[in-house]
Amino acid sequence: MTQTSRPFLPFVKPEIDEETIQGVVDVLRSGWITTGPQNQQFEAELSAYCGGRPVRAFNSGTCTMEIGLRIAGVGAGDEVITTPMTWVSTANVILEVGATPVFVDIDPATRNMDLDLLERAITSKTKAIMPVYLGGLPVDMDRLYEIARARKLRVIEDAAQAFGSSWNGKRIGAFGDLVSFSFHANKNITSIEGGALVMNNEDEAELARKYRLQGITRTGFDGMDCDVLGGKYNLTDVAARVGLGSLRKTDSITAHRRELARRYFDAFEGGAAEKLGMGLPPKNFTDHNWHMFQIALPLERLKLSRAEFMGQLKERNIGSGVHYPALHLFTLYRERGFKEGMFPHSERFGASNVTLPLFTGMSSDDVEYVVKSIDEICEQFGTQG
Ligand SMILES: *Cc1c(COP(=O)(O)O)cnc(C)c1O
Repeated sequence: MTQTSRPFLPFVKPEIDEETIQGVVDVLRSGWITTGPQNQQFEAELSAYCGGRPVRAFNSGTCTMEIGLRIAGVGAGDEVITTPMTWVSTANVILEVGATPVFVDIDPATRNMDLDLLERAITSKTKAIMPVYLGGLPVDMDRLYEIARARKLRVIEDAAQAFGSSWNGKRIGAFGDLVSFSFHANKNITSIEGGALVMNNEDEAELARKYRLQGITRTGFDGMDCDVLGGKYNLTDVAARVGLGSLRKTDSITAHRRELARRYFDAFEGGAAEKLGMGLPPKNFTDHNWHMFQIALPLERLKLSRAEFMGQLKERNIGSGVHYPALHLFTLYRERGFKEGMFPHSERFGASNVTLPLFTGMSSDDVEYVVKSIDEICEQFGTQG
């Protein structure tokens, strides 16, 4: 048993600064705690961040994607192409609107949708593409939109993890079609729970507003109508105030995360894990927001299962996560005919990925401790391949 006096290092830890906490107290005392002025301000600042495009905020990144699909007119009989290497909600919302999810495998280097496979998966029924930016790394955005334009497809970007990321210097959200962000507690920018959709024009933004709250439009003192089937997806002003505090620190959060990622790469260099063939993410310190730093275990060269590897980290007071198992192997999707062998790169990464600690409260010393521990585990449990 390895014992350590270091405090437990979780894989993620949300940070709410004192000014934001005070801001939340002010909202609580203001007499207006649900959707109101803070939500409006949050949307305005999100819009400014996204090059002035219209933005509406919601209470989750999941409903944000669902509303994106509805705005794009996706429904029964339509196919939507996405990747199985994502949080299950990406595919669930496709089912939710009555459409059919079509999966394409990932490129094992980027861990994102393989765009060659995407092109080949397009049929006459394809209505939209939902790319996912795993860990915050965008796909080749030029190529993505070239394909979408040529085939007249809508794009609903699952940019849940990519707030603060860019493509050749252009912010994710500041261009493209419909862009969906999540502000869940574990994301780089958080409103505890929440999400935002970036849209193309005011008509779409107005539709988003209706979908957000029962399809209701009010006029004058007493007028009310409901002309679309909306739901209950509005963000509280308490959450919006938390989101504002986080949003205003986007640049420093992203810079800090990039620095920690850089430290990870430096620390892994030449160590036992690297020699064993540990899979590392693509090196990118310009466009990547480093929402996650994920390794892929060389399981065939380790006398440990992934769970046991994570247990070894835990013994050293290090938290870790799995993001995610390949989702087509979940029961809900197996029942729809998906099975092992269909998306081998996703299945392989899904079975071997481990998310390492990465959050702004960490120091480079923490990073070095994590990598030293991984090297130790690899030395102890590695086999000659
Ligand atoms: C977090 C996340 C979502 C869903 O966001 P919620 O706010 O939790 O509903 C969707 N897709 C991906 C890739 C995510 O990481």
